Amino acid sequence: MIGQNVQGACAKAFVIILFGAFLPLLKALPIITDKEISDSTNTSDWLAYGRTHNEQRYSPLDQINLKNVSQLGVEWYLNLPNDVGLVATPLVSEGILYFVGTMNIIRAVDARSGKILWIYDPEVGQAIAGRKQVGYVHNRGLSIYGDKLFLSTWDGRLIALNIKTGKQVWSTRTYDQNEPRWITGHPKAFKGKVLLGNGGTETGPTRGYVSAYDTETGDLAWRFYIVPGNPEDGFENPAMEMAAKTWKGEWWKHGGGGHAWHGYTYDDELDILLIGTGNGSPWNQRIRSPGGGDNLFLCSIVALDPDTGEYLWHYQTTPGEEWDYNSTMDIILADLEIEGETVKALMHAPKNGFFYVINRETGQLISAEKYADVNWASHVDLETGRPVEVEGARYHKSSSYILPGPSGAHTWHAMSYSPITKLVYLPTLHAGIGMDDSEIPDDWALKPFDWGFGVNFAFTPPVRDYDGSLQAWDPVTQKAVWEVPQKLAYAAGTMVTAGGIVFQGAPDGFFYGYDASNGQIVWKYDAGLGISAPPITYSIDGNQYISLLVGFGGGWANGASTNSSLGWSYGVHTRRLITFSLSGKESVPKQPLPYFPKPLVEQDFVVKKGLADAGAEIYQQKGCWQCHGFDAPGGVAPYLPASPLTLSTMNPALTAVVRDGGRTYRGMPAFPDISDDQLHALTHYFRGVANSVAARTLDKKD
Ligand code: CA
Repeated sequence: MIGQNVQGACAKAFVIILFGAFLPLLKALPIITDKEISDSTNTSDWLAYGRTHNEQRYSPLDQINLKNVSQLGVEWYLNLPNDVGLVATPLVSEGILYFVGTMNIIRAVDARSGKILWIYDPEVGQAIAGRKQVGYVHNRGLSIYGDKLFLSTWDGRLIALNIKTGKQVWSTRTYDQNEPRWITGHPKAFKGKVLLGNGGTETGPTRGYVSAYDTETGDLAWRFYIVPGNPEDGFENPAMEMAAKTWKGEWWKHGGGGHAWHGYTYDDELDILLIGTGNGSPWNQRIRSPGGGDNLFLCSIVALDPDTGEYLWHYQTTPGEEWDYNSTMDIILADLEIEGETVKALMHAPKNGFFYVINRETGQLISAEKYADVNWASHVDLETGRPVEVEGARYHKSSSYILPGPSGAHTWHAMSYSPITKLVYLPTLHAGIGMDDSEIPDDWALKPFDWGFGVNFAFTPPVRDYDGSLQAWDPVTQKAVWEVPQKLAYAAGTMVTAGGIVFQGAPDGFFYGYDASNGQIVWKYDAGLGISAPPITYSIDGNQYISLLVGFGGGWANGASTNSSLGWSYGVHTRRLITFSLSGKESVPKQPLPYFPKPLVEQDFVVKKGLADAGAEIYQQKGCWQCHGFDAPGGVAPYLPASPLTLSTMNPALTAVVRDGGRTYRGMPAFPDISDDQLHALTHYFRGVANSVAARTLDKKD
């Protein structure tokens, strides 16, 4: 490990010497260090996922403000005709905007004009060709450090590009592709290293970890496992030995999970790395760790030494979790005035419905309050730092109605914090779910690449008369100052500016500006297509710009029935990168209206119920719904009851796509071991759905 660090330092020294000899070049080539990434006064760039290392997504720019926001118009736009779901935060350095689109393709564009400067395609389609691979064509962002741009790929690579030329400098594999893991998270560069985690909690028996690589060489610097492995193999470090005491049974056979697929923050001031960790694999603790236990470090914030990856402290939000209550949500750093003292705090709103304020010097909990409807715990005990669970929240051999449900009260859609209003702008979800494990046998196990949870679900009526809301949350009083109800769930991440405006895109296709002090809508733009990505702002030659990717996406966006009926159907609307300014006058071609593909009905096809039911189970188990939607069109992939490929059973064209990977280039993974019987059952399922939708439509006409 030390050798690798020294090697990295030498490489850096070499770069400095080299540039010393060519001083005139130095100006043209930005060398980004933690100093630049931490500099909150730099308003020309947006250098990190949350703008700066504090992840606040707050910009001191105020050229666009409450007085003039009505003049905000489109400066330029870039059509992305081959893209589908877009969820990324673009980055801006030296007037160039970098973003990751569908299939992890990177584009560098002139931020003044939108002109493409270079494109880098990591050829994910080739990387997944012919092999099993968990879905997900989207990615949430990039990272800049030194003279490099870092990207992570769905299939598990971490790649460094020369930021000027877009040429690959190095590429390293962060997991074995035979493991059922996936990446949608951004890499996080800090202190000469670049960190990356992965997902997989629901897709196989895997053990979560994060890895840090040398930014110059791509060599692995350290790896931190989030849950302990088999004690017989020895523990990697004392933290794993400590964690193992909180597990029971033979947890390692289930992997344990804890995947940190999002939520990485580097605290430049205290020199600590904070990672938010994921839920257990499987969700059901009766299977995962029979007899209970806290199951460290699931659903926690873990502070690590950024140089060595050594454990420093942790705070667990949901001990012994079994509701998919990831703590992988963003971790925002700020100095807060609490009871007359300045506290170096972190703020975190994980899925479990509590908003946490933690002293990041000590890891001590300061406060935790419900920011949404929560019924699994009555409160968090500030003495012990633990949630006080409500009886019956654990569904063992029974059923429970749980709030929030597994979509969480807040997920990866970024929250922002304004040091002016001292409020957090939090995209909030309102949904519960019924969970029942009475039919789950004790020897339940998840097969690699299948989707499974170890618990069954019952969908439940809406919690409120709106599925989402934007809240302005005061982290000191732990109360909402205002809340704007939003009919639809999964509104995008937020950004707040010194101009007093909170910007947020929404699934309804509008990009909204809210008055940061009271939540009044002060501006809106009709993008004609659902928005899932958060905006950024920066300034060039004295002009403030706001850029936003438009293209409904992300796992839940497609899987969730509430939003899959929006009409953002596959292949209909043009995905775009749109940039706004006060002088912007560009007119953007209108999008087609929301479109609902009609299922094709094949009169001669006799649907057999047993086969259709088996097909429905395969559809669920293989995770098809993640992209194709639940019984309704999703925006990321075709709506299968409307596809001619599903009109007859054993259609060779369907086999070519599903089994042989005929469309891996578009992001459809291959399922090489899917049997003829399974394909047959799937076709019956699609025909059954088509027939029932057609019947429903007829009913309406009557
Ligand atoms: Ca999860």
